[in-house]
Amino acid sequence: MSHIYLTFDDGPDPEFTPRVLDVLARANMHATFFAIGTQARRWPELVRRAAAEGHEIANHSFSHRHPWMMSARSARAEVREGAAVLSEITGHAPNFFRPPHGRMRACMREEAQQGGQKTMLWDLSAIDWGPFGRADKIAERLSRIQGEEVVLMHDGRNEHNKPDELLKVLPQVLVQLSERGLRSRALVKDV
Ligand SMILES: [Zn+2]
Repeated sequence: MSHIYLTFDDGPDPEFTPRVLDVLARANMHATFFAIGTQARRWPELVRRAAAEGHEIANHSFSHRHPWMMSARSARAEVREGAAVLSEITGHAPNFFRPPHGRMRACMREEAQQGGQKTMLWDLSAIDWGPFGRADKIAERLSRIQGEEVVLMHDGRNEHNKPDELLKVLPQVLVQLSERGLRSRALVKDV
């Protein structure tokens, strides 16, 4: 049995996060949710549900501002305040940080590290957003999973995300992964 690390960004979302959680529960798999602080603050019960069901709750900044479009001071605050919201809800500091749009910035990585978070991007994207975010294309991309990858998907509808398209194929994708001996688990710090 080989592992993969499914990750869901930009939630929690009152419509799509519960559906993703249901699909994961049926497949008996675990994932990591990179939550946006403002969303988590609005729907804390969804964060608590995900944590209670064994998923990892990770920091995706306070308000999802583009890392390159703000001062270093603001960029650091985005990391710190995102982590603070999650700590308040789950009772402990997050272990991982992922910058919005995957845009790395040294001061954000440093701030995350100071807060005990490892900065984590991904190996394979479902591209479940924008004009290429169609269910059949998402399924095709996810069929390329080999094992050990960190996989990027979205449960939040931020900007151009297509969680509705993802959810059309996610149950079947998880069945196929299981049949190939691949299981998703929550990120662990030695990945
Ligand atoms: Zn994002």
